[in-house]
Amino acid sequence: MHEYRRDEVATQAAYASGYFLDPQKRSYINNLGHEFRFGAVDVGHQRALLYYRVRGRCKDCGKKLAWAQGDMDHENKTTKTRCDCFDRLLADGVTRCTGISWRCTMDVRRGGRPDSCHAKKHGREIISDRKARRDAAGRPN
Ligand SMILES: [Zn+2]
Ligand SMILES: [Zn+2]
Repeated sequence: MHEYRRDEVATQAAYASGYFLDPQKRSYINNLGHEFRFGAVDVGHQRALLYYRVRGRCKDCGKKLAWAQGDMDHENKTTKTRCDCFDRLLADGVTRCTGISWRCTMDVRRGGRPDSCHAKKHGREIISDRKARRDAAGRPN
C-alpha cells in the first residue's frame, strides 16, 4: 500500500519555474511524482495540452472532436490517485504516467448526449463501484 503525500520541494520548484500557476497554490506534486492540478489556470492548461497531444481524438470512439465537444476525464478514481499527469516521468525516474484522457462530452449544454463516451465511462465506474460494495458485503452478484 502506497502512502501519498505532497512533495513540497518538487511542488515549490514547479511554481518557481512557472509549471504551476494557480494563484492559491492548490496544485501540487506528490511523493510518487504525480501532479494534481486545481484552479482554472492550471486545469485549463492541462486540458489544452491534452487536446493538442491527442489531436482532439476521443479515447474510446476515436472520433475527432472540436474543443467544446470533448471533456478532460480522469482514469483514476480516488482523490489520492486522480492525477492530472500527461506522459509524465514519475519520481522513480522510469515510469511515465498519463492519468487524463479526452472523451466525447456528456455536457448537454455543449451538445453532449446522455450516452456519450464520457457518460458511458462513468456508467462503467458506477457498476464496478456497486460490484465492489456487493463483494465487500459478501453478497452474491
Ligand atoms: Zn500520474
Ligand atoms: Zn467518443
